[in-house]
Amino acid sequence: MKWLLFILIMTGLIMWWRFAQIEQNGRSSAKPAKPSPKKESPPKASKTSSSEPQSMQQCPCCGLRFPADEGVGVYCSLEHQRAIDPKGWWGLAEWAKSPNYDERPSGMPVELVLIHHISLPPGQFGGNYVADFFQNKLDPNAHPYFAEIADQHVSSHFLIKRDGQVQQFVSTLHRAWHAGASEFFGRERCNDFSIGIELEGTEDLPFQPAQYAALKDLVTVLKKTYPISAYAGHSDVAPGRKKDPGIHFDWQYFSQLAGIPERQLPYGLNKRA
Ligand SMILES: [Zn+2]
Ligand SMILES: [Zn+2]
Repeated sequence: MKWLLFILIMTGLIMWWRFAQIEQNGRSSAKPAKPSPKKESPPKASKTSSSEPQSMQQCPCCGLRFPADEGVGVYCSLEHQRAIDPKGWWGLAEWAKSPNYDERPSGMPVELVLIHHISLPPGQFGGNYVADFFQNKLDPNAHPYFAEIADQHVSSHFLIKRDGQVQQFVSTLHRAWHAGASEFFGRERCNDFSIGIELEGTEDLPFQPAQYAALKDLVTVLKKTYPISAYAGHSDVAPGRKKDPGIHFDWQYFSQLAGIPERQLPYGLNKRA
């Protein structure tokens, strides 16, 4: 009789314990799932669709699909990261696409690189105002000068910031709106056949070594991609109207650094205001 009582009590205890366990599990599984931390999207638009396994990506240069941990950033290789892709975008630039472009005249080769300078507000460096300007997003209330220019629709293909960082706004396949009324040895509308490169700078200050280094890298890849035959400043093709890149742009140093023969600098190697 004692044993029977003992077994009954033990069975009761075990059943109570099991019940408590089930109730505990039920409560914890009813908790909302903890949201997984939001992943940063890659700096450049990835063409990988969400239905594909997350571990694969597609090279923006050649379209190859490859495991994410085998590439260089979003590219399949260093070579493709350093190239201008078939759509006219440079893998080493930060892309900040501008709506201010149109088609080049059909069949017209890209033969000229035009060098400019810009800073917004004038004389101030850093910030994102140049990109805002080229993307028609400049706040006219942020600075008195911005109110004057905010409704202009302009762009360039590239901007090289003071630290050498490069931004790209327009595909090199397209015509950016940087030269305006211009003439290169009898050929008007330089935007048709040129690539525009802005250096963040002013009339009063030398450009930075990091900017020359980035300019060298950029023109090196442009030369590989297009039949570039000349390099000029904005002031060369729009004299009287434009003064950039100005007296501080060192054409001699640029030609040495980037390996550009003198005949491809038709306005000479002297600094010009
Ligand atoms: Zn590739
Ligand atoms: Zn200019």
